[in-house]
Amino acid sequence: MPKNNNESNTPLDKLGEFGLIKQLTKDFKIYHKNTVKGVGDDAAVLDKTNKQSVITTDLLIEGVHFDLGYMPLKHLGYKSVIVNLSDVYAMNAAAKQITVSIAVSNRFPTEAIEELYAGIKLACDTYQVDLIGGDTTSSTKGLLISITAIGEANKEDIVYRNGAKSNDLLVVTGDLAGAYMGLQVLEREKQVFQLDPNSQPDLSKYAYIVERQLKPEARKDVVGLFKDLGVKPTAMIDISDGLSSEILHLCEQSNVGCNLFEEKIPLDPQVISTLEEFELEHTTIALSSGEDYELLFTIAQKDYDKIQANPNFTVIGHMTDKTEGIHLITRSNQKMELIAQGWRSF
Ligand code: ADP
Ligand code: MG
Repeated sequence: MPKNNNESNTPLDKLGEFGLIKQLTKDFKIYHKNTVKGVGDDAAVLDKTNKQSVITTDLLIEGVHFDLGYMPLKHLGYKSVIVNLSDVYAMNAAAKQITVSIAVSNRFPTEAIEELYAGIKLACDTYQVDLIGGDTTSSTKGLLISITAIGEANKEDIVYRNGAKSNDLLVVTGDLAGAYMGLQVLEREKQVFQLDPNSQPDLSKYAYIVERQLKPEARKDVVGLFKDLGVKPTAMIDISDGLSSEILHLCEQSNVGCNLFEEKIPLDPQVISTLEEFELEHTTIALSSGEDYELLFTIAQKDYDKIQANPNFTVIGHMTDKTEGIHLITRSNQKMELIAQGWRSF
């Protein structure tokens, strides 16, 4: 949040647009040889590689996609980069460059935007991507961030949403619903704080899920793992909108059906205990909650041996003929139709 003490409260227009951009971008490193020109000219210049380019953009708006009431600006900067890198990795590609465009109202001092860029820089250094440009403009109200990520991959390595075949295994990385449950905790603490500004929340019990919400990671490691294991998924998508909605995307684009097994859906113990505390139904939340940025993919049965011992992966179902439909098989062995928000009960 914007600080109120005078020494850290430089009005945004003091540096001027050019000075501000210079101040924000001066410490960024360039990691990739094909970044010929980054920030500073009319446009960035990339040398062409013998690979295919993968390009993705996200637009994040204050009050719609984030709430600065509990999201520190540094975390917001980090997360804004992560959501884009996750899309690049979901293509089984390597992320190389980003551009960052912001619109800021003058309620933010320069120091607040520096915090945002500290988070962006941390993500760039952690994932080794080059900041190569962007745009800076004012807004009448609130903060707006748009990031574009550029990646590359060999043509034959790129994984699309449309390659899943009947009998392929459906696999997910990591565990689900953590980001959503972290948000529930933060929303509750925000309300407590509004009633009693002196309250000191103890979030240590919720450390994992709060981190899943405020400082998510993108699964660059999994793209490396595929290479090491000699596995190429037949289809892949990242989980930004929730498991069931992503399964529906894979099925629709690949023209297949799916059986998802309720008992296989991976949940962290802290997620389970928080679901119980909030009296929320596990599977409904696991299916419908977003922002986990895990990867959901399908592999041919013959590749099962290569992934089965790896703790990053959980086989949660298999693809079927399209005519069989898209179903959740419950613990009690009932077959429920999967819909975007979860499943259809009778
Ligand atoms: P122009 O007026 O030609 O659009 P700008 O003054 O907006 O140029 O930008 C100058 C340089 O700074 C360009 O390299 C641009 O990509 C970069 N840049 C502008 N805003 C940002 C930002 N918010 N983050 C990173 N780079 C930026
Ligand atoms: Mg510009």
